[in-house]
Amino acid sequence: MMKTAGIHHISAIVGDPQENVDFYAGILGLRLVKKTVNFDDPGTYHLYFGDEAGSPGTIMTFFPWPSDFRGRIGDGQVGVTSYVVPEGALSFWAARLEEFAVPFIEVERFGEQYLQFDDPHGLHIELVARKEGENSKWSFGEVTPDVGIKGFGGATLYSSSPQQTADVLTNLMGLELVAREGDYVRYKAPAEIGNIIDLKIVPGRHGAMGPGTVHHIAWRAKDQTEHLQWQKHVMNNGLHVTDVKDRNYFDAIYFREPGGILFEIATDPPGFAIDETSQMMGSQLMLPPQYEHMRAQLESKLPPIQVRVLEK
Ligand code: ZN
Repeated sequence: MMKTAGIHHISAIVGDPQENVDFYAGILGLRLVKKTVNFDDPGTYHLYFGDEAGSPGTIMTFFPWPSDFRGRIGDGQVGVTSYVVPEGALSFWAARLEEFAVPFIEVERFGEQYLQFDDPHGLHIELVARKEGENSKWSFGEVTPDVGIKGFGGATLYSSSPQQTADVLTNLMGLELVAREGDYVRYKAPAEIGNIIDLKIVPGRHGAMGPGTVHHIAWRAKDQTEHLQWQKHVMNNGLHVTDVKDRNYFDAIYFREPGGILFEIATDPPGFAIDETSQMMGSQLMLPPQYEHMRAQLESKLPPIQVRVLEK
């Protein structure tokens, strides 16, 4: 029986890259840990945000496609991405969202309070306060470690075949069913963050991929040896899985679970300090070796972006 520790990263498609940076760094106070290109389409950015080190379980990555076109959140996708903050920090966040004119609602699920809002391109995001998980060491303006996002709380999955997705979560990924409430079943993985998965058990409308939707959710493998075991394990469960892809900061395999959601399994090592020092992470455009010869061309084509303090 194999067990993932929890979420490694979540990757989404968004619109304008500066709007993306302003929201996740400028308002949510996450660190832009890596500025690179989409390895499958190097003329566009791939931006990674996380804690100070870009630790597994904290990394949200974005493919900006600047256009007015929007995808549709629905079945076959991660519907909501949850971030976890320290206990007692939700009132700070309610005030901060108000200051930046981000509309939010308060909801309760499984006895926990959530602040729910959308990012500028329509992604559903929520904040929940929990004791588990170390505080981030990253500070950005008023977002200090005592209130800052620690990483993912988890995610809510919208499946077009919830029973089959439930089977994959427990039998393949090794999550444990811990609670049922209304339209949701809650699963738990062993890590302290990125470990709570809520599955919506009533199917709705199919999602359509595009800006404002999650592209895939990646689960953790502890090293390359375990990663290869995962690949075999997915195959043995009768699902088609890709070859191992070298993503520079981790190795990746992908498979689509029967409810339509694209799953990835990614290795914890080597991480984001492999090509620049921890101090410099995110400050310059980093290219994988196969695109280094195109640097001048790519730098002139990509729109300039910067992490900046926003006016309230
Ligand atoms: Zn990924």
